[in-house]
Amino acid sequence: MLDKIDLHTHSCYSDGYFTPQQLIEYAQKHNVKLLALTDHDTVDGVAECQHYAMLAGMHFVTGLELSVNWRNHALHIVALDIDIENVNLKDLLQQQQLMRTQRAHIIAKKLAKLGVENALSKASKLTQGKVIARPHFAQVLIDEGVCKDMKSAFQRYLRRGRPAYQATNWVTLADGIKVIQDAGGVAVLAHPLRYKLTRTKLSELLTDFKDFGGTGMEVIAGLSSNDEISHLSTLCQKFDLVASVGSDFHGEKVTPHSMKQLKTLPNGCSSIVNKLSISALLNFDGEKR
Ligand code: AMP
Ligand code: MN
Ligand code: MN
Ligand code: MN
Repeated sequence: MLDKIDLHTHSCYSDGYFTPQQLIEYAQKHNVKLLALTDHDTVDGVAECQHYAMLAGMHFVTGLELSVNWRNHALHIVALDIDIENVNLKDLLQQQQLMRTQRAHIIAKKLAKLGVENALSKASKLTQGKVIARPHFAQVLIDEGVCKDMKSAFQRYLRRGRPAYQATNWVTLADGIKVIQDAGGVAVLAHPLRYKLTRTKLSELLTDFKDFGGTGMEVIAGLSSNDEISHLSTLCQKFDLVASVGSDFHGEKVTPHSMKQLKTLPNGCSSIVNKLSISALLNFDGEKR
């Protein structure tokens, strides 16, 4: 049996609710043995998280979750094992942050037209200068009593097709993967079933992703059902990708079960862990590189 691994988590450096220290404490409590911090378009929390992981005796992998555009879809790529000091990576993340700030101004304007005033300054109070993401606007809508929870804030206002949505000019899938590789990392397609692509489109995406240099895909993404896991595991093998596992944990309030109930990869899946530099130190499932 594989030890419990979680290669997709968030902290307060993006839209998670826990500090890196709280995240590591929580992960330790829930028996995670290897963790990656993968905040949206930033590595600002990585060194701090690595420090607390080390104190806790937990294995740690550097990471981030990169927003990319593929055709007319915004997708998420988990980058693992990256050099967080890489200059091209830093440049890209700076650009992505700029786009987040510009988008935040537009979202706030749209919300103002819908009767929610000063959403940007309210959201900025929540982020305290860190990455601004749509869940911060969702939190403002909840705090203002406009929406009852995150889900309804996205459904009514923030998701694609709703009145406060704004498309963003993220880096392309191909260019994003190039930068991840240049920074020594591996690219993993995050939560492949969350984009609501048709079977054909998903196949086309996986073909492109592999051609562009992608390495893995999440076969377990949060609370995946056994049917989803077996579907993704088949796709993973078909497209010659390796399998990753991530809770996509954002905090006890938002994703209360995702890390607690995180499953392990099914037998026969080739694990992403073997592609990470840390694998030399580990003996997951009896395999060593
Ligand atoms: P952003 O990167 O700023 O566009 O925000 C994306 C984040 O919003 C995701 O990582 C999720 O944490 C959250 N999110 C996206 N869609 C939903 C949804 N339908 N319900 C709740 N949270 C969502
Ligand atoms: Mn998020
Ligand atoms: Mn995501
Ligand atoms: Mn995520």
